[in-house]
Amino acid sequence: MKQVRANQRPMLVAGPCSAEGREQIMFSIEQAKQREVDFVRISLWKPRTKPGFDGLKEEGISLLAEAAQMGVNPGTEILVPSQAQAVMDGVLPSLGADGKLLLWIGARNQNHYVQQEIARVAAQDSRVHLMLKNQPWHSESHWEGILDHALEGGMAPENLILCHRGFTPDVHHPNPNGLRNVADNEMAMRVREKTNIPMLLDISHIAGAVDKLEDVMLEGAEHNYDGMVIEVHPNPRFAWTDAKQQITWEELDAMLGKLPAERAVERKAVLA
Ligand code: PEP
Ligand code: MN
Repeated sequence: MKQVRANQRPMLVAGPCSAEGREQIMFSIEQAKQREVDFVRISLWKPRTKPGFDGLKEEGISLLAEAAQMGVNPGTEILVPSQAQAVMDGVLPSLGADGKLLLWIGARNQNHYVQQEIARVAAQDSRVHLMLKNQPWHSESHWEGILDHALEGGMAPENLILCHRGFTPDVHHPNPNGLRNVADNEMAMRVREKTNIPMLLDISHIAGAVDKLEDVMLEGAEHNYDGMVIEVHPNPRFAWTDAKQQITWEELDAMLGKLPAERAVERKAVLA
């Protein structure tokens, strides 16, 4: 992971797959604060393949505001523009001038009208950063198109972040290692170079299982990603979503410690 902007170390977005309640989130904020994580995941809306727990929704916005008050930058996926607006209305008053709020558009949210309108909402405040995850199918031009739609919606390039979460395996792109999604690190690096927008690697949604996370991370470390997204849960086995791929904060420390020294994410708590 390299440095992209002056004085900026590799970025780390970490926290539970989904926000489940106040206790879980308060613990996550404390852990994120100790490690100087750039954004803590407090994700309130979960797209689900089949009906099930799909997030705390508006009810959880106050948790992001609490993170902001505690000096930890919060982040959540949003599915539609009204959710982006509600999060901004609820969180920005608690965020200092140097604070940041991360909103992201998930892989399955592939409607260009929604992408542009979310960007239009997010562009209202320069403290809001918008992360764009790649679409599930393997296409470089579609991925670039998501970025074009966000720019069309008025997002400043410096407030945009890209995230590679792998592509759904198909006959042309099988997954011999049994990963949940297949990474195309070369494509991610081409998109990163062409656009000059920071690119994060979401190792959790590529791996899909705890025992594959480290390999995905180490393979990613051979490329010039600008940081990582990792799902971290206080009690992964009992997570309400994505239980198989989440690790504890202590396991995160141990895993980051295995990064090659020149790419290591230097965080006081991790190295302590
Ligand atoms: C997520 O990051 O919570 C998520 C749902 O991932 P993706 O959009 O990559 O499937
Ligand atoms: Mn998840």
